[in-house]
Amino acid sequence: MGGMSDYHHGLRPESRIVHPPVTEVTGSRPLGVPLHQGHVFAFPDSDTLADAFGGPDKAFLYSRNGNPTVRSLEHAVADLEGGSGALAASTGMGAITTVLLALLRSGDHVIAQRSLYGGTFATLADLAARWGVSVTHVRGDDPEEVRAALRPTTRLLYLETVSNPTARVADLPALIGAAREAGVLSVVDNTFTTPLLCRPIEHGADIVIHSATKYLGGHSDVMAGVAVFADTGLHHRVWHHAVEQGATLDPFAAWLTLRGMQTLGLRIRRHNETALDLAGRLAAHPAVAAVHHPGLPGHPDHELARRLLPDGQGGVFAVDLAGGREAARAFVGAVRLASLAPSLGGVHTLVLHPASTSHRQLSDDELTAAGIGPGTVRIAAGIEHPEDVWADLEQALAKL
Ligand SMILES: *Cc1c(COP(=O)(O)O)cnc(C)c1O
Repeated sequence: MGGMSDYHHGLRPESRIVHPPVTEVTGSRPLGVPLHQGHVFAFPDSDTLADAFGGPDKAFLYSRNGNPTVRSLEHAVADLEGGSGALAASTGMGAITTVLLALLRSGDHVIAQRSLYGGTFATLADLAARWGVSVTHVRGDDPEEVRAALRPTTRLLYLETVSNPTARVADLPALIGAAREAGVLSVVDNTFTTPLLCRPIEHGADIVIHSATKYLGGHSDVMAGVAVFADTGLHHRVWHHAVEQGATLDPFAAWLTLRGMQTLGLRIRRHNETALDLAGRLAAHPAVAAVHHPGLPGHPDHELARRLLPDGQGGVFAVDLAGGREAARAFVGAVRLASLAPSLGGVHTLVLHPASTSHRQLSDDELTAAGIGPGTVRIAAGIEHPEDVWADLEQALAKL
């Protein structure tokens, strides 16, 4: 049989079946990225094996340290973001905690946007409560606020390109510039915009984070996270910690994410168009008191969005229903094509009432500071036909 040596042929069946022939592709190449699900690699000698422990650019040895399928995803996202390298993690939160724990130590100070993803906000609060890291929250629209918050111990500035759920746009060049002047690293969660709409490294960011669970995977069937690094030194430093922390991405999840990502260009165009179209129609509906979409002229970050996100602002926006809390809760229960679910970035249109679900732990004052009212509903536009999505939202509004 091809690929089997005389030595293998001489073994008993129970031994041969433990060592089936591994098919090498020669004379052609696979068009799709191959799935390397095996977690360990064999070496010809101990010196070559020892060398493989040295970093993410060495030979593959054990999939917690690196895996060819996972590496393909890392290269793909690093390429789109304009980074020197990337690290994939089991979830977006896995990427975020890996970066924070790799770069922070007790006594360090972090400046972070106030309206952060809930899991990130909770992680920073936990680092402050139990690990001696101090955190100052800023609004995210004024570099002077960042300068005023700087301390000699400040290590990181943590931002999100577009905030949840009211789609505030962070002034990345100005805020990152203020951190850079002080030698402080900037980390930007770019989940909502994807590298097709915004590339924070072009604005000076040192690390870009994605919950690939959302737009990159895009089909609500896989969890993954990626951290992209502007420079190799930072990449290798975080890689050493990532190997210890072990929030490693499974190769099959990397494979699914890569498969989903191939249609990102088509999907993001539809997400952009549907969200902006719905936002405009909802703004004219009598049951709607306000619409929070940075593509609309009334949004506080409209001018900034035109400059920073000229190719579109993504699929997530929010509306304030005139009927307040009861109207919002009735609306999310009345949609039929859309689903009430706590995610975004997939092919399905999703709705959510933040005040009673994703943001329920915030006090009334904190909700107001985050721009979330009792009647605020988040809408994450999917890729269904926009007229069907609009008809669904309209019939749900008509029931209020
Ligand atoms: C979902 C999300 C995360 C967390 O990602 P998981 O893959 O769910 O762990 C982080 N940041 C943002 C902006 C998100 O939307």
